[in-house]
Amino acid sequence: MTTAPPPTQDPRARVVADLGGTTLRLGRVTGGVLDPGSVRRVPTEGIGRHPGLSPRLLQEKVVTQLADELDAYLRSPHGVGADAVGVSFAGPMTKDGTVLAGPTLWGSAAAPLPVGALLERRLPLPVFVANDITAAAWRYAATEPEPYCLVTISSGIGHKVFRHGEILVDDAGHGGEIGHWRVDASEDAVPCECGGRGHLGAIASGRGVLLATRRAATADPEGFAASALAGPAGRRPGGITNEAIAAALRAEDPFATAVLNDCLLPLAQAVNCVFTAIGVRRYLFIGGFARAVGPRFVRLLGDHLTRLGCFGLSEQETRDMLALGADDDDHSLIGVARMVDHALPLPAGAGR
Ligand SMILES: [Zn+2]
Repeated sequence: MTTAPPPTQDPRARVVADLGGTTLRLGRVTGGVLDPGSVRRVPTEGIGRHPGLSPRLLQEKVVTQLADELDAYLRSPHGVGADAVGVSFAGPMTKDGTVLAGPTLWGSAAAPLPVGALLERRLPLPVFVANDITAAAWRYAATEPEPYCLVTISSGIGHKVFRHGEILVDDAGHGGEIGHWRVDASEDAVPCECGGRGHLGAIASGRGVLLATRRAATADPEGFAASALAGPAGRRPGGITNEAIAAALRAEDPFATAVLNDCLLPLAQAVNCVFTAIGVRRYLFIGGFARAVGPRFVRLLGDHLTRLGCFGLSEQETRDMLALGADDDDHSLIGVARMVDHALPLPAGAGR
């Protein structure tokens, strides 16, 4: 049973796409709501599927796939009545929609790619392109009354600060990359996927916690054996998975909790620094790992943050800054539609 109006009657229907390193998702957002049943998923034709190709060829493959899929989607029943296209892209980009890098899409450095202009040439509708974390942050533009910082905790870490109708990054695309802030300056610090070392995203992410948990299990066999992780891992440190870690954390397993606490300290310091530097008092955590751990993620982070102290805030005010985002994986799809709404406002007096 559906209560959604027929697509042709809604002037605010937008076709949206979210291009990640593994999956390209397309959907239809109407009045800020992702239409149930409209989401299409296809594997991304990027470096993950074609590891041998040059970055330039991969760029071509990725953009061709994106244009072809959007074109077909617009011609399908889900495209009926849509008046604009929004695309979120996993990579830093300039204000005019040129992608500067696509490490999860085409690997190492390649020429800047004007994705927005390329798609506009192929599609019959206006196209808006945004960085995926920027798009995700926009999802909360209508519901968060104060400036906020969105932080995504998945295999890596990203963030964006939203304030007074805009994302605080510079026009060339710098900023919003707290995951690549170096928090461990030692020479043998853990490597980050970007090629650097000791970056926050290599330590407090799902990947970072997995690595730290396996190391802890190797270093402390007895503690590991007594933990909730040992059984599902077949008693081998290498058998530990992120799913098992999240389950152990939800069950308040002491061994898994101790490892996570070590990994979360630099993240708490990052929040503390953003707060102290620019006074943002709202931090929303999304991403597969934070979501899998659930409320305990922000509770343990809050423990660190209150111990560190946030200058000028009480303990309760400090804890109240932290929250989990919506419990789904639709942030970028819904958020990029909101960006399109913002760019193409309804004429005065027009209803939905
Ligand atoms: Zn990095």
